[in-house]
Amino acid sequence: SRNYLIAANWKMNGSNALVKSMCAELTPVLSQLSPEIAVLICPPATLLTAFTGVNALAIGGQDVSAEGAGAYTGQLSAALLLEAGATYAIVGHSERRQYQGETDELVAAKVAQAIAAGLTPVLCVGETLAERQQEKTQQVIAKQLMAVYASHPELLVKSVIAYEPIWAIGTGLSATPEQAQETHAFIRDTLAQLNQDAAEQVRILYGGSVNAENCSALFTQPDIDGALVGGASLKPDEFAKICLSI
Ligand code: 13P
Repeated sequence: SRNYLIAANWKMNGSNALVKSMCAELTPVLSQLSPEIAVLICPPATLLTAFTGVNALAIGGQDVSAEGAGAYTGQLSAALLLEAGATYAIVGHSERRQYQGETDELVAAKVAQAIAAGLTPVLCVGETLAERQQEKTQQVIAKQLMAVYASHPELLVKSVIAYEPIWAIGTGLSATPEQAQETHAFIRDTLAQLNQDAAEQVRILYGGSVNAENCSALFTQPDIDGALVGGASLKPDEFAKICLSI
């Protein structure tokens, strides 16, 4: 059976003070969690090195460059993130696709670059409200997945996938457990066409208005292997509760 991953995406929020209070809150929680449950925090990159002394806590970037090194002002390579202590990087978040114009092709290059350098990418996919209303959810997600894995199925076993319906992000309107499960099962089936074993192993996280109240029902779904938490991950006590809800 698959392991779980509970991941925090702080987006452009946080501070040294929040790092300290989060570490204090999570230290006793992490010692209680079974080894099948991993906890990851993706803070702004300037805060990565402020996470010290909490061994069982993984940290990650919110993005990673598709380039290895060189004249790319403002970008962060996988090697730089690794040196700052990161072991994961979120890739292709809908906010980067929307505000930074990231294409499927760029996202694919970032996933490949992250894995080549030894980072685990958390690849984000998901549909807009209009796409869901037009019953294009599966088509949109299949395209986002295939852009990354169709020609490089060997990358799948080293990846984490996050299903984040855009209409559920920051809206307080989570997908229902049944809606999420339906799409997670579709994602796993789609990936199984490339590599059955890797598709069974890959962790598929749900993201979009996850909180301490709605997480348990999501976690009991068979194809939901954790969460990618935004707003609720900025409250240490609430994030700790989510980690303890599996
Ligand atoms: P919220 O939990 O704030 O809806 O954000 C979800 C998200 O985008 C995580 O990457």
